[in-house]
Amino acid sequence: MEILRVEHLAKIYGKGEQAVHALNDVSFSVNKGEFVAIIGPSGSGKSTLLHMLGGVDNPSKGKVFVDNTDMYTLNETQLAVFRRRQIGLIYQFYNLIPVLTVEENITLPLLLDGHKVNQKELQDIVKTLNLEERLDHLPNQLSGGQQQRVSIGRSLINHPSIILADEPTGNLDSKNSKEIMDMLILFNKLYKQTLIVITHDERIALQADRIITIEDGLLAKDEVIRP
Ligand code: ADP
Repeated sequence: MEILRVEHLAKIYGKGEQAVHALNDVSFSVNKGEFVAIIGPSGSGKSTLLHMLGGVDNPSKGKVFVDNTDMYTLNETQLAVFRRRQIGLIYQFYNLIPVLTVEENITLPLLLDGHKVNQKELQDIVKTLNLEERLDHLPNQLSGGQQQRVSIGRSLINHPSIILADEPTGNLDSKNSKEIMDMLILFNKLYKQTLIVITHDERIALQADRIITIEDGLLAKDEVIRP
């Protein structure tokens, strides 16, 4: 089942002589439960693509369908709600809210939607992420690996259609990197959670079902690793 479809996506930053064509006519689709790695040289347009997939920034041209919703036909308020419910974002530098505890950071997307926290489900996620002892801690009382685990929890709590991760292990040592990728892959396999990860790390890319290579704003290669 298709969960994401990108049609002729383009992004131009700036205007006239300053214009940067960051993304040029990119099209592809992703099925529910796939783990896709996005690779390519620095400056090739990977983060730009992820931002467009995540509804973070408007494309200059083209369409993004997430679970059959044409995202950029939504108005700003609708898009904010859609994004919160359907898209889990994980960044290199965690982007946690410093004044909120681990538990509050993880459950924030639910509370913003006015939903009650399902305690059983929260405990399951927290246990899998090995954060049971840290629920009352603030982000600055945690290691980098722990902070990234919190951001994974926050991205999963709403059961989004897709998880988008931009270099999720880029700031971590190899032990923590492996732990974070193992957890993302566990959720991908266990819950059929669709996962799209930008990475520079070949070892991570080779764990994916499929590798998309972006070069000069174009989809240069789309290889299935595990059918
Ligand atoms: P990657 O993630 O592959 O390193 P990016 O998507 O970050 O590449 O960038 C693609 C191109 O778009 C680069 O030339 C970059 O300088 C440019 N770019 C990215 N964001 C902006 C922006 N906000 N304003 C202007 N140019 C940008």
